[in-house]
Amino acid sequence: MSESLLEVKSLKKYYPINKSFFNKAQGFVKAVDDITFSVNKGETFGLVGESGCGKSTTGRSLLRLIEPTAGEIWFEGQDITKLSMEEMRKRRREMQIVFQDPFSSLDPRNTVQRILEEPLIVHGVGNAKERRAAVERLADVVGLAKVHLQRYPHQFSGGQRQRIGIARALALQPKLIIADEPVSALDVSIQSQVINLMQDLQSEFGLTYIFIAHDLSVVKHICDRVAVMYLGRIVEITDKDKLYSHPLHPYTQALLSAVPEPDPDIRKERIILQGEVPSPSNAPVGCAFNTRCPRVMDVCRNLRPALLETEPGHLTACHLYEGEVKTLLA
Ligand code: SF4
Repeated sequence: MSESLLEVKSLKKYYPINKSFFNKAQGFVKAVDDITFSVNKGETFGLVGESGCGKSTTGRSLLRLIEPTAGEIWFEGQDITKLSMEEMRKRRREMQIVFQDPFSSLDPRNTVQRILEEPLIVHGVGNAKERRAAVERLADVVGLAKVHLQRYPHQFSGGQRQRIGIARALALQPKLIIADEPVSALDVSIQSQVINLMQDLQSEFGLTYIFIAHDLSVVKHICDRVAVMYLGRIVEITDKDKLYSHPLHPYTQALLSAVPEPDPDIRKERIILQGEVPSPSNAPVGCAFNTRCPRVMDVCRNLRPALLETEPGHLTACHLYEGEVKTLLA
């Protein structure tokens, strides 16, 4: 049985809107709306969905870079939502983030040497000589040469900048790295280099990743399990093979139908979703997907479906499968 590193329970991140004169919220943007999942040690857990579905907000909430509105985040058996800011700062050594845009996340005024050394200084790791040696080791691990350390971010290509971002995330020897669309801004040829690098580092250092992406074909190459998000909610979680061969949720089925198939002999029917994604400040009652779902039923417009284990190791939030859940529990 796999050991879990992170357990997220009923996490919510709501942003108040239309503050009145008396500072009273008139409504909320429900960016993350009651999600529950766990991540096992050493696995790569994918979080996918269209832009605005709440996946990046989830990533930042897990590190408390933004404060969750409610819910629990258990990291190695400790609920980190209860930690003070100072305690959380220390705990963040073990939980790092790699951002989508390596250029804007690297300080343009600092050399790579300084960028990589900074987390070590902030956390009081080693003396100057030890830190210099650690920085050279980090550069080497991500495939940068010693000569690169004296250069500035603008002197690198996108792929090299992402290597610097990964090296910075590794500096404090974290256990968990949240990679927020780490390859989306890169050319396809460079994407696979960065993904290969991340996989090599994972086996070398026993890392656990949460890999956030909107592109299901990228996730297929790196993730062990995948959670699909829609309008702030998780609609399906399973291992990647099941997700790609046997998706259950109508939203996942539609997303996958749009992924190009490399084998020309395999023909698949594209499911075109009607309508726009509703605003998270005004999500439909019941199932959030009911305004676009090709299989919508009356119950979907009234009752929010719970995320249930519809098959062993396969969780789905959809009224279509509630009969299967009863059979499984019988
Ligand atoms: Fe479609 Fe209803 Fe399932 Fe939602 S609960 S995905 S609307 S069938």
